[in-house]
Amino acid sequence: MNFTDVFACPLCLSKKNEFHSHASPNLYSEKISRFLKLDEQELLDVLRNVRCVRCGLIFKRQWFVPSILRILFNELIQIHPRGWDTISGRFSPAQFFKELEFFKTAVEAGDAENKARWSRGLVSILSAIPDRDLRFNREECLGALESRKFKYFMDNQSLIAASFESPIDFSRFTGYSVKSLWDYVSHEIRPVATYAEIGCPLWGMYKIVPPGVKKIFLTRDEPNFWSDRCRIDGFTCVEAMMRENDSVEMMSLNSLNKHQIDLISVFQYLDHLENPLIFFKSIFFAARAALFVIEDPELTPPHAQHFTGWTAEAFQYAAKSLGIVVDDSYQGAKAQGHSVYLLRRCLQL
Ligand SMILES: [Zn+2]
Repeated sequence: MNFTDVFACPLCLSKKNEFHSHASPNLYSEKISRFLKLDEQELLDVLRNVRCVRCGLIFKRQWFVPSILRILFNELIQIHPRGWDTISGRFSPAQFFKELEFFKTAVEAGDAENKARWSRGLVSILSAIPDRDLRFNREECLGALESRKFKYFMDNQSLIAASFESPIDFSRFTGYSVKSLWDYVSHEIRPVATYAEIGCPLWGMYKIVPPGVKKIFLTRDEPNFWSDRCRIDGFTCVEAMMRENDSVEMMSLNSLNKHQIDLISVFQYLDHLENPLIFFKSIFFAARAALFVIEDPELTPPHAQHFTGWTAEAFQYAAKSLGIVVDDSYQGAKAQGHSVYLLRRCLQL
């Protein structure tokens, strides 16, 4: 048994839902369909997204059993690429042209898997260059990549190289260390003296949180990334984060005292949870406020590896049932397909 039936909405328990969307194929659906010996399209159909009629949550009517999730995150894909990309240095001309060489080699060898892999990577690097820094025509460049016109890259090498300043905010190379986001949240929830994050340790805001704020990395027992297997050059992702930010303390979410923390950030994490209400309850027991950044399911159908998708309506429903308030005035992540919600107990001066 690889899947379990989901009879009711994981947020409001309603049994009324309607078809919402199919996920696009990605690395996860590719690996897991191969592992389960299912056709990838067939898998994506099993994992189609429905929308709860009562609360607006998007979820899957069939979901993986925990043992399959553990295999997915601990064996099939051990390393969380989007986490490591925030410290990978891949956003640079040297890395770009190196990966272009790898792509060219895969094309010449007719190696379909690596062709897809390097092409995806090159597209994400090119897409992370802000418009203001572009010294070449992005569409033309993406077209050249698509049609394997390698001469284009030779001819435009110096213009491409001159376009790498810093990656777009909220791209995979910046993660959530975005100053305007910190400014917004620290202003709304002032004072933030104790700050915590849960989820992937590499893509959060620790590196821009001012010195003097106590920083905590929260853990839970869960089938997800950031296990001991998520390791590069001998360091796990948690160790790599600790090396970059030497003052972060590790604590278990369930060990926290009431209202111990001013703010908990939850980046792209809710969509993995099978019981979001229990999670919300433990978060709002421990913290005055929580910041959520999550892919907007109306822009991108929830992927194969995500159980739920969070609409504004679903956040409002959750907040109402917990007696807390939602602020969605920060719009700076929309261009990258993310929504930002700040949930807190009550309005403060
Ligand atoms: Zn619902």
